[in-house]
This record gives sequence, C-alpha cells and structure tokens, in this order.
Amino acid sequence: MPPLDKPGPRAVEERSFHGLAVSPGIAIGPIHVSDHFDAAVPDYRIAPEEIEAERARFAAAVAVSIKQIRKLKTKAQNLPDAAAEEMGYLLDAHLAMLSSSRLIRGVDRRIAEERRNAEAAVQAEIAEIGERFAGMRDAYLAARFDDIRVVGARLMRNLVKKPFEGFAMLREGTVILAEELTPADIALMDPRRVAGFATALGGAESHTAIMARALALPAVVGAVGLLAHAERRETAIVDGTAGTVIINPSAATIAEYRSRREELQRERRQLDKLRRLPALTRDGVEIGLQANLELPRELDQALAAGAAGLGLVRTEFLYMNRADLPGEDEQYATYRDLLVGMNGRPVTLRTLDIGGDKIAESLAEVSGAPGANPALGLRAIRLSLKERKLLDTQLAAMLRAAAHGPLRILLPMICTLSELRRVREALAQVARRLKRRGVAIADPLPPLGVMIEVPGAALAADALAAEADFFALGTNDLIQYTLAIDRGDEQVAHLYDPLHPAVLRLIQFAIEAAIRARIPISVCGEMGGDPRFSALLIGLGVRELSMAPSNIPRVKRRIRSLDTIAATRRARAIMDQWDSGRIAALLDDFNTLA
Ligand code: PEP
Ligand code: MG
Repeated sequence: MPPLDKPGPRAVEERSFHGLAVSPGIAIGPIHVSDHFDAAVPDYRIAPEEIEAERARFAAAVAVSIKQIRKLKTKAQNLPDAAAEEMGYLLDAHLAMLSSSRLIRGVDRRIAEERRNAEAAVQAEIAEIGERFAGMRDAYLAARFDDIRVVGARLMRNLVKKPFEGFAMLREGTVILAEELTPADIALMDPRRVAGFATALGGAESHTAIMARALALPAVVGAVGLLAHAERRETAIVDGTAGTVIINPSAATIAEYRSRREELQRERRQLDKLRRLPALTRDGVEIGLQANLELPRELDQALAAGAAGLGLVRTEFLYMNRADLPGEDEQYATYRDLLVGMNGRPVTLRTLDIGGDKIAESLAEVSGAPGANPALGLRAIRLSLKERKLLDTQLAAMLRAAAHGPLRILLPMICTLSELRRVREALAQVARRLKRRGVAIADPLPPLGVMIEVPGAALAADALAAEADFFALGTNDLIQYTLAIDRGDEQVAHLYDPLHPAVLRLIQFAIEAAIRARIPISVCGEMGGDPRFSALLIGLGVRELSMAPSNIPRVKRRIRSLDTIAATRRARAIMDQWDSGRIAALLDDFNTLA
C-alpha cells in the first residue's frame, strides 16, 4: 500500500511564506511534513451491533475534515490573487470529495457490509480507487488521485486522533511543517532532533506558541500555502523572529541565515552573563523573576536562567498524550521533584486548566464534547469543581508535595468568590483526609491564589483580594476575553492588543486591589516575559514577573536599566491615554530613553 498522501507539486525554486513570528530563533534543516499519515492503520472486524456507531465515528471524522478545510479556505483568501485562486480550487475539490463522493459512499458501504473499522475501510477504498486510476495512465487523473490520497490521509488523522508519534524517529535538526500542531504535539518534540516548526494555522498567543517558546524552538504559525510546496527532505528555513519560512533556499540564502543564527547565538551568550547578577532596578528595587513551566524538562533551563522560583507550573502536561488520568502518587512524585529541584525557591502549581485550545485525550470522557465556544465552556476550575475527583487528586498530591518546600496553589479561570471558597473547602477536606491516613502535610496549608485572567475577576479583584492569598495576572486570557479575540486564531491576531486601554485598566485595577489587600501579585501571562512591557508593569506596581525561562535574561537586562520612579511616572501618563497608538508611542519612547 503506497502512503495515503503525497506532497503537492515540487517546488524547484526558493519560495518564501509569511506568518506570525511566535518563537524567536532560526532553524535550518531537512523538512518533515507532519500532516502525512505515517502511523500504522488499525485494522479489525466489528460486530453487527457496532456498525451504526462505527458509521457515526466515520461521519464525525468527515465533519471535522470539512471544518478544517473550510478554515484553510478562509485563510487562503488572504494569499495573493493567483495563489488564492489555485488554493481555492484545490480545497473546493477536497470538499467535494467529502460530500457523498465515491470515496465516502465506498467507505460507508465497507463498514456496513464488510464490517471493517473505519480506518481500514478508508485504506481499502483508496487502494481500490488507486488501482483504477493506475490503469488510466492520464496525468490529469493521476493528479486527481493525489488529491484523493491527501483527503484520505486527513480522514485517517481525524479518525486515529493520535498525536504525531513520528517525531522520535526524526533526523537531527529537522524542521517540521504542518497544517496545525497542538500543545501535546509540541510536548513530544525533542529539541535535539527538532530544529523548529512552521504551521499553516494558529495564533500567536495559542498554547502551541507558548509551548514552542518554552522549548526555545524557533516557530512560525499561520503561514498559509506552506504545505503545497513542501517536500520531505528538502531544506527549510524557519525564522521565528521575522515570521518567515523559506522552502528550498538557495546556497546564498542558507549562508545569510547561518550568519544571522550565529549573531543571535552571540547575543544569547552576552545575555547569559547576566545570570548571576540580581534583577535590581537602577534605584535598587528588586524584581522577582520567576519561570513558567510547561514541561518538567524545563527545570534545568529555569535553574540555568537563574529563576527565583517557578511562578506558574501548567500541570496540563501530566494529562497530555495518554489515555488514562494521572493518579495521586504520580502527580505527587512530579510535584515533589520540582520542589526538590528548585531547592527552597517557591513553586506555584496551577490546578488543571484544560479546555479552549488545550484539549487532552485523557479527559475527553470527563469533559465531554467541547461546546460551541470551548473558551467560554466547561474548562479550568469549572471542570475541576464539577469533577471533584480531578480536583481532590490534584490537591492531595500538592499537599503531600508541600512537605518538600515552599509550594503555592494557583487556580485558573476564577470568576467569582464562590469558586475560590469551594476550593478552599475542598483543600481543607482533602487535608483532613490525608491526616487521617497519617500522611505528613504542610502546616499551615499552602497559600491559595487565583489567576486574574477573566475581565469579571479583574473588576471584582477587590473582593477576591480579601480572600485569596495571592494573585497571578494571566494577561493572555485577559486580553482574549476583554477584546473578544481568540488567542489561537491567526485571522484576528492583529487585533490582539496588550496595550488596549481596556486591558491596561483591568490590569491596573487588579494590581491596586492586591496592593491595598497586601497580597503578592505577579504577571505570568506572556506580557510578563516581554521586555517591552517591563517598565509599564513595574510602573503600575508589579514586583514579580514569571515567564518562559529563555526570556529571563532579556527581561533582567531591561529591569537593570530602568528606574522605578521614572517608570511609575510614565505608567501614570500612559494610564491617562485612551488611544493604544499613543500608549504604544509613550511606552516605546520610554524604553528607548531609559
Ligand atoms: C494566561 O492566560 O495569561 C495564562 C498565564 O494562562 P494560560 O496561558 O495557560 O492560559
Ligand atoms: Mg489562561
């Protein structure tokens, strides 16, 4: 059986694509196209009573495929005229193949009559269509068969729903190109093998982008048209600083990018020298620079960057790429290792924040099918409070781990005081249960804090501050919800504006509420790791920032160059403005001066 899909027309000349620059750095290497279907095809017989369910499973995969192609089509409209037209025709052809075509009818029939599972039925149907086409020896028809195979591969991926397993087998320094990658896919990438990646879809603040920055993998997302011109083993350059992808680069282009890469490496070595220096402003105010952790393997990076603690551990990694749920002992061991690794420095563990663009297979059963608006649905703390076993298991593991060092518990997507109260009760109950079991736990119980990442929570920050032990400002979601911009959608990425006055007012309100209540507040959204915003956040009163370990040196350099009194004055001037352009100018001006 030949592979189900095949790359599009071979690009002989150098071709450039533009997308969103989401993770800085330059990758140069052989291409691996991740949207091919490489995994083994499951092949089994089904019982007569399973036929309907199997047909429904196939129909669901067809529906998802149609949705994906429509999304690509919308995106393709932004391409230059001829390319938009070409892509439009191609995608229309793919859509036609998914609606009552010979392929779909054939697969359906094989499920019902031959009682084969959907994947095997797709494979058999395509093999048969292929044999017919092979007999025709017509170049036009051969190209049509290529399209059928591409559609078949898409159906297969949507049926198997397996994360890309092939990453472990890649040659060192490979560049991955894909239509879309999930955070779980990135978690499987080994930076020793994967040099970087580029995708056709995805937004700059998506968790996929955050995961790429965490692993320091150069990445570009939203580069439409990319896959039609990529062939395995050809070379690609991903410039995650400029947002450019070059396929089949000339020798001169490769040489140019190599020298840029060396320049970036030199800059990084310079920044590394800051590691041992304190994060002190020019007027002697210490700013706590902590690390966000997506995966435990970043711990060494956090230590190497001189992190003062872990300001946000996204525990979602425990639930990714597996079919079962992590138990209390497994979670305890992971959390304990982080505390021991941080050697007395504080570790902030956030309870499960699944939903929106972070979907875990292992939770599909408990969380059910995503609603029409997953970002507004049963996610994060809402899911934990509904499925108390999820929450209790996490809290028990965290309480046990707290015996090994200063641990703080952070709750995602809090909207109301009652959610915080219910978790506090749950924490007390779990603590009592553990004590009855004779387990050593921290006394007093660890601090319980809330993410301020929903506009309603920011506006109710004074009430929340009265009962929360600390705040962590999640600017990624705060911007998404305040401006109604899906952080993972490249089509609205240009509207995602951290300097929108509405966003800044919510941030200011939350900071002032925390200061009045004398509770610590940190910024752990992506704004916290961007040196452009350091002066503004510090000027507004923040004294703790948490970010991807690779961002710490750059932010430290900015902090060491600024004066808090001047920053406070500039922040006040900025807060008097209502135009983001003017705000940006005032901030950028200040950044170049001080
Ligand atoms: C945020 O929303 O800013 C945040 C830190 O949480 P996450 O990015 O994990 O949603
Ligand atoms: Mg968030």
